[in-house]
Amino acid sequence: MSYMGELSSESAVYRTLLETTKAIPWKIDWATMTFAYIGPQIEALLGWSPESWMTVEDWATRMHPDDREQVVNFCVAQSQAGVDHEADYRALTKDNGYVWIRDVVHVVRNERGEVEALIGFMFDITERKKTEEKLIALQKELEALSFKDGLTNIANRRRFDVSLELEWASARSNGQPLSILLFDIDFFKQYNDLYGHVRGDRCLIDIAQTLSLALDGPRDLVARFGGEEFVVLLPQADASVALKVAERCQRLIQKQAIPHAQSPHDQRITVSIGVGTIVPHGETKPSSFIEAVDQQLYAAKKNGRNRIEVMQPVA
Ligand code: GH3
Ligand code: MG
Ligand code: MG
Repeated sequence: MSYMGELSSESAVYRTLLETTKAIPWKIDWATMTFAYIGPQIEALLGWSPESWMTVEDWATRMHPDDREQVVNFCVAQSQAGVDHEADYRALTKDNGYVWIRDVVHVVRNERGEVEALIGFMFDITERKKTEEKLIALQKELEALSFKDGLTNIANRRRFDVSLELEWASARSNGQPLSILLFDIDFFKQYNDLYGHVRGDRCLIDIAQTLSLALDGPRDLVARFGGEEFVVLLPQADASVALKVAERCQRLIQKQAIPHAQSPHDQRITVSIGVGTIVPHGETKPSSFIEAVDQQLYAAKKNGRNRIEVMQPVA
């Protein structure tokens, strides 16, 4: 075989390789900003014939408008700097759809180091992007779930801890008060024994609902603190606001009138409430504040239940 024959059969192999691979090869001449080559596979993927890819403009205009500016600027800057790069973008199809593309670009320079051409491969990454988007959506859903109490659908303890941490920092830097109400259902063990766990669960759901309705501040939060305990976080609320909210909660639960045959309080479900207000400062920790409010809840229990006990305000 002659030298020429060898070369042309070799280039036929390369051509076959280039035109049958799933990745779409292309070449752009840097001086004229025109396509020197684009694989025929492009037509199967996007619907545009290879001949319709003439200039860099054709490439840029067939890009999703939300991706265009950033991707074009990035690719031009990298190419000018002579740096190989890759970019993901949505390419317009002839029937007005979009296909996610990953373009992997190699910058070819001449012997003087000047950019001569760009050669690259376009990969169809639509499936990968779909999977990625699904994963992100799932991740968000999971995050939301992990901050929710499974039974009552209100915020859980984790969410409360995070919110308290944030509101504590905000109150401290603004010199503002912050209040907390701790609720514990009275004689709930007897309620379970008397009516069963399912009705017990139902009762917890109803109380959670009622407490949610009692709040109106945009940053107010009600969370399930533990078994039959709830907590309300009232950012920017001073002691008098906190007491008003506690009384409103108590009143609404009273109005709900859930029967509890063994309760000495009108044979209804009642709650004990500990209330505390603080202007966070210095090294005071949220946990020691919670502990102080819990002492008030304990006092409410000791003093007969179905009542509100308020902590001495801490300046
Ligand atoms: P007190 O008035 O002193 O608060 O008495 P209590 O009976 O309410 O308090 P105790 O702490 O002795 O009992 C709490 C009960 O709450 C015990 C537990 O079975 C019940 N409980 C905790 N979590 C759940 C739950 O998710 N569902 C149901 N049905 N019951 C729960
Ligand atoms: Mg309890
Ligand atoms: Mg209880």
